[in-house]
Amino acid sequence: MELDAKRFTDDTTLDTDVCIVGAGPAGLVLAAELVDRQCDVIVLESGGHYPEAEILALNVGDVSGDVYAGLGATRHRQVGGTAHLWNSAVAGAISAKYAPLDAADFLPRASRDHSGWPFTVADLRGDYDRAQRICGLGPFAYDAAAWIDSSHQPWSTIGPRLVSRVYQVGTRDALLSPLRASIERATNVRLCTHASAVSVQGDASGRSVTSISIATPGGARWSVRAKRVVLAAGAVENARLLLLTDAGAGAMGNGSGWVGRGFMEHPRDRALMLHPRSADAYARSSFYDQWRAADGTWVVGRLALGEDALASGELLNASATLVPRLSNTLHRLRAALPSLAARWLQSEGHGWSRTRGAARAFGGFSVLLNVEQSPHPENRVTLSARRDSLGVLLPALHWSWREDDHRRLERLRAIVAEDLGAIGTMTVDTNARPDPNAHHHAGTTRMHDDPKLGVTDRHGRVHGTDNLFVAGASTFPTAGFANPMLTIVALSVRLARHLRSES
Ligand SMILES: Cc1cc2nc3c(=O)[nH]c(=O)nc-3n(C[C@H](O)[C@H](O)[C@H](O)COP(=O)(O)OP(=O)(O)OC[C@H]3O[C@@H](n4cnc5c(N)ncnc54)[C@H](O)[C@@H]3O)c2cc1C
Repeated sequence: MELDAKRFTDDTTLDTDVCIVGAGPAGLVLAAELVDRQCDVIVLESGGHYPEAEILALNVGDVSGDVYAGLGATRHRQVGGTAHLWNSAVAGAISAKYAPLDAADFLPRASRDHSGWPFTVADLRGDYDRAQRICGLGPFAYDAAAWIDSSHQPWSTIGPRLVSRVYQVGTRDALLSPLRASIERATNVRLCTHASAVSVQGDASGRSVTSISIATPGGARWSVRAKRVVLAAGAVENARLLLLTDAGAGAMGNGSGWVGRGFMEHPRDRALMLHPRSADAYARSSFYDQWRAADGTWVVGRLALGEDALASGELLNASATLVPRLSNTLHRLRAALPSLAARWLQSEGHGWSRTRGAARAFGGFSVLLNVEQSPHPENRVTLSARRDSLGVLLPALHWSWREDDHRRLERLRAIVAEDLGAIGTMTVDTNARPDPNAHHHAGTTRMHDDPKLGVTDRHGRVHGTDNLFVAGASTFPTAGFANPMLTIVALSVRLARHLRSES
């Protein structure tokens, strides 16, 4: 069921069992998992069903540190959340790349501060299975062996530390449409659009959240009283809403001082180029292109670090994607004749392995490394001195690529270059710094069983509170290299089960 808060008046107060703040993928999955259960649910969504300038403007904030695209450009307020910014495509449809975290991402690593989750990948396995179905993907299978067919064979000659795996690709529609339909039909779930949570109120003890104050731009100020509240507003906003609860006695969940800290991105490194030795290397590399498997699943082959290489923690977890680069001649031709190029000339996009005359069209593969960033307390979200149009303090992000991670990246580049030496000649741009702009925000309300070391417990409950929870990548203590959606969805499934078991 859906309500537009533009019709509400100032004295409106709604009562509910569970109030979810944010109707992005994390909040929608959580709400859909509670459909037809014995509880009443309200989902508060800042936006509506279309982009609206004054709502999108609420996403701006301050940024300091290394060059970063900005908080307005990397988040989106609308039902469906930041999925509206996805920029991958499959068969012409907007899509995302999906991969689970690796087993090593969940484990404490001796040489890495603040590493380790409160549970293992095995504990999330069943929820990953369900996440695959919710995201409209194939089976939970990411090793190359599950996907090899006669036309798509991974390289067999690469060095010992690299293994071949895949991403799966799913469309935005496959994820969002069934969630929206299920919530629309539900009699126990109310999705309130144009409802921006502006503050979270606790009782005198600070242990229990009693209500949420909500503003509708140009409209009412109203509230929801809820027995349990889940913040599912994205990693920057979840931290901001917690920091805003500080009325002098400290923000909720911030006994450890970790609220807002440990922000992570998935930087992208383009320092490595592979110049294949044999002219038919492009056709023989089709496993690493985007392709459709026999069961209909879209996959993209990739290279990954094997378990042994990851175990020491000396390397950043990473995934390597092959991106063919146009030869200089073709590059110049495309620039000189753009309209001809759009129709007739080869581009660098998917389908490259099927290009006729690929050895002439391409000048090699750029080896795109999607890398992990270690959680660091100084990479953090705080509150700005500026306010948004609703009068609320804006978030301020400090992000930097730190030297310890850069040294790990340099070791990683050396290993990848060495292990791909069997395929061709490698060049390394040793001056290159990775680009932070994958727009995968994580880590600002990290999970830890010990309240002194984290913000939420293993279920996402904010430490020191009875009824305040967090959903989404802000709870990730470490974020591996993997695009976050699959784990976000799995954690929402897990949290829904926990909320059901408590009610
Ligand atoms: C360009 C781009 C490409 C990406 N590609 C991929 C990919 O291929 N694979 C992948 O795994 N991930 C990808 N991501 C990341 C992925 O989209 C996010 O990790 C994911 O959307 C996070 O889900 P979420 O529900 O936690 O937060 P969001 O999607 O950000 O949703 C948060 C929701 O909360 C609402 N909200 C915010 N503040 C408030 C408030 N105060 N009150 C009420 N509502 C509020 C917002 O309007 C929004 O709808 C990409 C991101 C970008 C920007």
